Amino acid sequence: MKNQSSWSSYVNPLVSSMPSSGIRKFFDLVSGTKGVISLGVGEPDFITPWHIREACIYSLEKGYTMYTSNQGLFELRQAIAGDLEAAYGVAYDPGKEILVTVGVSEGLDLAVRALVCPGDEVLIPEPSYVSYAPCVSLAGGKAVTIPTVMEEGFRITAEKIEAAITPRTKILLMCYPNNPTGAVMDRRSLLEIAEVVKAHDLLVISDEIYSRLTYVGEHTCLASLPGLRERTVLLNGFSKAYAMTGWRIGYAAGNPDFIAAMTKIHQYTMLCAPITAQMAALEALKNGRLAMTQMVQQYNRRRLLVIHAFREMGLPCFEPGGAFYAFPEITRTGLSSEEFAEQFLKEEKVAVVPGNAFGPSGEGFVRCSYAASVEDLSEAFRRMASFCRARGVRPKTILGPRSFAGEKKPAAGQATG
Ligand code: PLP
Repeated sequence: MKNQSSWSSYVNPLVSSMPSSGIRKFFDLVSGTKGVISLGVGEPDFITPWHIREACIYSLEKGYTMYTSNQGLFELRQAIAGDLEAAYGVAYDPGKEILVTVGVSEGLDLAVRALVCPGDEVLIPEPSYVSYAPCVSLAGGKAVTIPTVMEEGFRITAEKIEAAITPRTKILLMCYPNNPTGAVMDRRSLLEIAEVVKAHDLLVISDEIYSRLTYVGEHTCLASLPGLRERTVLLNGFSKAYAMTGWRIGYAAGNPDFIAAMTKIHQYTMLCAPITAQMAALEALKNGRLAMTQMVQQYNRRRLLVIHAFREMGLPCFEPGGAFYAFPEITRTGLSSEEFAEQFLKEEKVAVVPGNAFGPSGEGFVRCSYAASVEDLSEAFRRMASFCRARGVRPKTILGPRSFAGEKKPAAGQATG
């Protein structure tokens, strides 16, 4: 029996050796500081449209308080299949090829655990969403990151993927539109990547949670490319497109063998996604298009304003084509990503996320979410301009507090019409 000071030695070493999320670490700092403007969290500033909330309330009134089937409400799976077919021309059988999950987070964990065997390598373009590498490690696999660079629009190429493949490579884990860079992929590059995937008999896990938030060109669903449907687990959800982060609802679509394997884990660990959230998601798919489009239009307007603001203050910023993040390079300030984020928070009370939270290739950058009100964005960028000026960054023109004049913060729920 060990004494109490050594309880940590009981913890699975896989877990104790895992660093905490760089975002979480930073947000502990933020929560200890009063009056902070946060451009840190990857979360819509909109409230879930009213008709979606109402559908949930109504379902409770009708007494829908029980478990659903492990795979999720059949009607919801049908609606998901209909949505995927209408949007991307890829057909899934709602009976065997769709699983409703507790957010994309659970879908990701299930896909990785169902497919990764000990020692398998998973290729991940980097900078990357913070959960990918830890999920792979927890499943006993090895995350192999492939750096992408601003000069190439943070896009991954078929050549880079091919160069990273070893005999242990099993999966390519993709996320476009990308968190944290906002990069999107063009169809031609994805077709080249598809050829590499097939030539090396790889599987794909495609996290398309930001697919609806595509402002430049059209989103290409990886599973819709020739020969990829059967070897791809497509992940998507409702958190970002429908402003439903707290509902915790997502889904996986893929060939029946993969979905059956994922469902096995899901039934032992989660049982099913909450029925109220499933009812709300069904309403989102049935009647939420207008509200979603209006929110996306708002993000796009903010995106353009944010890009302009960075240019004006003299920070190089790649133009994001999707999601709701900008990823400016901050090396001109002479600070590292963490120094920038910490000093900016301390001196100007604005939270951004240090780029190295998304892997070493994010060093020299910070992630700013523009899913924030226009007033907050305006004030945050006024402060950032002065913070950068004080560190010798030469602005093109001085950014005034009225840079975003004319933009109005939408009232919560307004987008529902
Ligand atoms: N995937 C990416 C790329 C994300 O950015 C996030 C959340 O920020 C998630 C997955 C998690 O999504 P969910 O809320 O559906 O679990």
